[in-house]
Amino acid sequence: MPERSLPSTAAQKDRLLTGDRPTGPLHLGHLLGSLQSRVAMQDSHECFLIVADLHTLTTRPERDRIAELPRNVRAVVLDLLSVGIDPEKSTIYLQSGVPAVYDLAILLQMLIPASHLRSLASIAQMAKVAGVDDERMSLGLLGYPVLQAADILMARAQLIPVGGDNLAHVEIAREVAQSFNEMYAEVFPLPEGRASRVPMLPGIGPDGPAASKMSKSAGNTINLGDTADVVASKLRTLGGARLRGFIDALIGNGDDDDGQAKAMHAAHQAGKLSDAAVHDRLITETEALLAPLRERRAAFEADEGLVEEILVDGTIRAREVAYATLQQVREAMGLEPLWKGLIDVAERRALDRKKPY
Ligand code: ATP
Ligand code: MG
Repeated sequence: MPERSLPSTAAQKDRLLTGDRPTGPLHLGHLLGSLQSRVAMQDSHECFLIVADLHTLTTRPERDRIAELPRNVRAVVLDLLSVGIDPEKSTIYLQSGVPAVYDLAILLQMLIPASHLRSLASIAQMAKVAGVDDERMSLGLLGYPVLQAADILMARAQLIPVGGDNLAHVEIAREVAQSFNEMYAEVFPLPEGRASRVPMLPGIGPDGPAASKMSKSAGNTINLGDTADVVASKLRTLGGARLRGFIDALIGNGDDDDGQAKAMHAAHQAGKLSDAAVHDRLITETEALLAPLRERRAAFEADEGLVEEILVDGTIRAREVAYATLQQVREAMGLEPLWKGLIDVAERRALDRKKPY
């Protein structure tokens, strides 16, 4: 295998950061909601893609769930590669491998009222899917957005392409950055969340609540690695509002300049187009997206050690960036001067005693 160089640190490019929890393989919602924008912005931005295993712990801290991480982490990285993320351009890294981020998260926790976190619908939804009631909500799950803020701010990232459920979290990162800059020093650019044209793809299944998005944890996904047969049979389960959501997401390339999705909605509503006919069309569109990914995935999968090498390289690079930011933060807050002050005095005392420190 040719030696890969690390992504360039080109200072002139804005930084982009986003990522996924390794709770399972990535799905069509990820592709349309976030992955396509990541690929599109690989050249214009310096990209950091986080495999957020610490965020997985917020709803799955049990030992047997942690034992699933190696397989899931690998699946997520293979998905990223198969959609066209190029590790020479993007830094793909493992969140728990960057301890400076935990330090940063502790410091940022001081800057956000707990009431903001308690009022977030996204956290309540995650708790619900994980079967966690209010009483048992852990501090970690409540603080999910603060850890996310630490991820974003450690990279001093400006652009955060996420799904609609995640925009409120980016808002919190922005709020935290603003408070930090006002209280201590202008360390952070203010991050901006950006949802794609498909901010929330519904899950598969017959009609259901509008808010039930396709989620790894909800078992209602079309995975990027699913076979053509599986994809077709999953798409055929769609009905009602979910079917309409898929039309909006997949027909007319989403931009729908030529009104294809509108026309399909109208024909469907008027009974001129059956559910089965819509399913057929959705199957064709989805296959056009997924077939090339399957081929690429198989090639990457066969390259033994590739995923591990990419993650180790990326995590080392993320460590450097995170450590540099943490030092700046400690300096701005007065914590580094506090420590240096102690060292200075202790050193002087040791010198006075003529004993090397
Ligand atoms: P989990 O159930 O473990 O939370 P998930 O399917 O929600 O998994 P995440 O890893 O939480 O996936 O999300 C990764 C990114 O993909 C986030 O930016 C999120 O907003 C986006 N995303 C997730 N699901 C969808 C969806 N159905 N439609 C559009 N974007 C989505
Ligand atoms: Mg999620």
